[in-house]
Amino acid sequence: MGGVSLGVGAKNSDSMSPTGAQILNFNSAMKYRPMGNTGLMVSEISLGGLVMTESVHRYAIEHGVNLVHVAWDYLGGQAIRALGAGLKSLRDRVYIALKDDYPSIDEALKVLNTDHVDFLMFNRHWAFSARDAKIAETFEKLKNQGKVRFAGLTTHGMVKETTAAGIRTGFYNVIMPVLNQPNLEAMDEELRLARQRGIGVMAMKTMKGLRGLDRETAYLKKMLSNAAVTTVTKGIGSFDMFDAYLEALKEPLSSAEDRALYRYAQQNRSSNCMMCDDCKQACPLGVEVSTVLRSKDYYYDQMRDVETALRTYRQIPLQKVGDEACRLCRKCEPACPNGIAIVERLLAAREVFTRASSRWLVDAPNLSAPLTPGPSPPRGRGGQV
Ligand code: SF4
Ligand code: SF4
Repeated sequence: MGGVSLGVGAKNSDSMSPTGAQILNFNSAMKYRPMGNTGLMVSEISLGGLVMTESVHRYAIEHGVNLVHVAWDYLGGQAIRALGAGLKSLRDRVYIALKDDYPSIDEALKVLNTDHVDFLMFNRHWAFSARDAKIAETFEKLKNQGKVRFAGLTTHGMVKETTAAGIRTGFYNVIMPVLNQPNLEAMDEELRLARQRGIGVMAMKTMKGLRGLDRETAYLKKMLSNAAVTTVTKGIGSFDMFDAYLEALKEPLSSAEDRALYRYAQQNRSSNCMMCDDCKQACPLGVEVSTVLRSKDYYYDQMRDVETALRTYRQIPLQKVGDEACRLCRKCEPACPNGIAIVERLLAAREVFTRASSRWLVDAPNLSAPLTPGPSPPRGRGGQV
């Protein structure tokens, strides 16, 4: 991979700049990088709000983490409430990045026990919506009221296009794209552009598809060997996990680790959705494939967050979750750059969520939506579920 990567073994000089006294919640065990042109230095590991184990997060903050990302609806509201409770004594040690999915910002600030957040993250999944002029209007109003400081864009739909559009607006200080293994490669150009324009990058959903702590820590190093990546935002579920991540910051990625990661990425390509939405573009019904896979693979299987998985799945209109008629269509599968067995995945998700929710049974989708049969996927695509 070319681009902005500093290469295996290279040092990121940005992480060396200001002195500890100028860095919020400085701890010599942690490393810090400038968050684009904001003037803030943030820890290379930041906390994602989906896994909100208060004692572990407190431990991480005591070890120098100074950025936490949270959203109103993570874990049905438990995450933001837990963070707010924890912030009573820690607010002056962390920057907060808040997704704009709250009922009102005043309610969110009240729950968070603070009068402002540092980054307001606009959650958009289309290029046109990342350019929406109302975003700047909303942000400026809140900024003038002292409730927010910097603007961010978070996206997990049409990730490449939406991120590129957001960067080109010149408005956002920070972007937060999905940067799992295939996306880190696919987003090279956008990452380079973000760095050129002084935009900070919070990498999210990074460990999706990776199995094993050794691989996770190797991939953490891999991401941080890319100078465009400011911080890896991750739900830290245990003390051991945090300790392993912190330890990983001490050493650069080795050539052996890089080669092993590359092999793993190639082997697992057909099970790793990049949330690019190429499949949706090819689908005559606009089925929300990436959202279905995110609900099932990420929230349900990986994070074991059944509530968020069910809620995300239910938010998809019934005619856009895919059904048995997909077996006769399959137009989306040749469009997938990773060769994912989309139809089998959609149907597996449907079965799981139907079983998991009696409410879903009541709202059972219409199985008889007409579909035009499409070409069979080419050989070698699809793979196992
Ligand atoms: S199989 Fe056809 S209808 Fe089903 S998601 Fe793919 S393109 Fe859409
Ligand atoms: S299933 Fe494939 S085409 Fe669809 S969003 Fe995921 S990676 Fe992209």
